[in-house]
Amino acid sequence: MHLHFLGAAQTVTGSAYLLETAKQRFLIDAGLSQGSHRSERRNTRPLPFHPRHLDGIILTHAHADHSGLVPRLVAEGFRGPIYATPPTIDLCRILLADSGTIQEEDARYENKWRRRYGKEPLVPLYTKQQAEQSMRYFERLPYSKRISLGRNVKLTLHDAGHILGSAIVELEVEGSRIVFSGDLGNKNTPLLRSPAPIGHADYLIVESTYGDRLHGDPDVRVRQLIDVVRSAKGPIIIPAFAVERTQELLWDLADLIREGRIPEIPIYLDSPMAISATGVFEKHISCLAPEVQVRFRGGESPFEMSNLHIMREADESRTLNGVQGPCIIISASGMCEGGRVKHHLLHHLPKPETTVLFVGYQAERTLGRRLRDGAREVTLFGESVPVRARIQSIDAYSAHADAQGLLEWVGQMIEPPAMTFVTHGEPRASEALSESLMKRFGLLTEIPRVGDVYEITPIAESAFGRLAPKGQLA
Ligand SMILES: [Zn+2]
Repeated sequence: MHLHFLGAAQTVTGSAYLLETAKQRFLIDAGLSQGSHRSERRNTRPLPFHPRHLDGIILTHAHADHSGLVPRLVAEGFRGPIYATPPTIDLCRILLADSGTIQEEDARYENKWRRRYGKEPLVPLYTKQQAEQSMRYFERLPYSKRISLGRNVKLTLHDAGHILGSAIVELEVEGSRIVFSGDLGNKNTPLLRSPAPIGHADYLIVESTYGDRLHGDPDVRVRQLIDVVRSAKGPIIIPAFAVERTQELLWDLADLIREGRIPEIPIYLDSPMAISATGVFEKHISCLAPEVQVRFRGGESPFEMSNLHIMREADESRTLNGVQGPCIIISASGMCEGGRVKHHLLHHLPKPETTVLFVGYQAERTLGRRLRDGAREVTLFGESVPVRARIQSIDAYSAHADAQGLLEWVGQMIEPPAMTFVTHGEPRASEALSESLMKRFGLLTEIPRVGDVYEITPIAESAFGRLAPKGQLA
């Protein structure tokens, strides 16, 4: 059998691995490449297989860089099944539709100038409607349930603790056990369980986003949050991603208020997508950390704080334009590139009593990054806006395991893998993890490139020296 690395190899987006057995073809993750124009062009490239010939897609989680290519595959003829945990399916319903809307908007924007220069108009990668249609091919697979995919393939999903519903994929195929870590969670996130331990894998595909970094003391996150809230003189605008980050923030804020460590100031949740995602958390309480489940079942939901105001309609959102005094406005998008947060910034950036608090990664060339880097003036809706607000950031909210967490997870295996592929990381991070795995556990590792194909043979029969060299198969 062959394993193709179609994305997230020496880079962090576009996760997709094709596993080809003698009789079947499965895609593990179908993610969008994101970031630069060059990487986004990958999303429209011809695939090395016809979607109709796939026997199934297995999704590790709902983030678009792992699931966002699904509607394209369906539009090109794939007819399922798509295996995913129940929370992943519910989150995909929200995130894929949103991704479809963004694709349509991007194409519309691009076509404005194309029309001006007499160029062929672009067709969106897929539409919101196509994204919605792809949902019918999803099949629910709860954690720890082992199912057969045809005669020779068994599939089990295990909790990866990265975002709600995230999974480690374990496949037993033709005598080999192949484990895909997916994105592995950070042990110190407030809502989720730690990544499930895996006893044994013949072949391991492990992520390495933070393979060269440590997150530091988790208490720092809470201490910084207390400082920011206590010292605020006006609104604290928190640009946040709709899934996970927003719910973690609410959890921390609810705890701090209950413990009397911060004042009970109004909290406005102003992102329709974050509101929908919060509903998915409430629906899947059994997938959260045990201590969180206990509190939820005891009627203690952080999403029902008396000072929490849910702003569904745009009209309600606009009432925040003139808000004064300390309060918290949580609004998407996380990098300030779209969504309602841009309106809040327009109204509040010029005021010195405002705080903008970043809790997530800000990619280069985004408005969030410019603010974080100390811009004194930014452009919003064609208007130049002076920045007099206080800009703060907390880096410790991370949904990924750090170098130590990754090593601990691999280290708990009873039997070490015979071959470990280090993926989903910038080259430096993948190399650092690969080196640690070799030094610490004596593992044989490879850092594949996009397009590489490896032969996977049952361990008893294979001699590792004879593993096919990079990209020379198929
Ligand atoms: Zn992810």
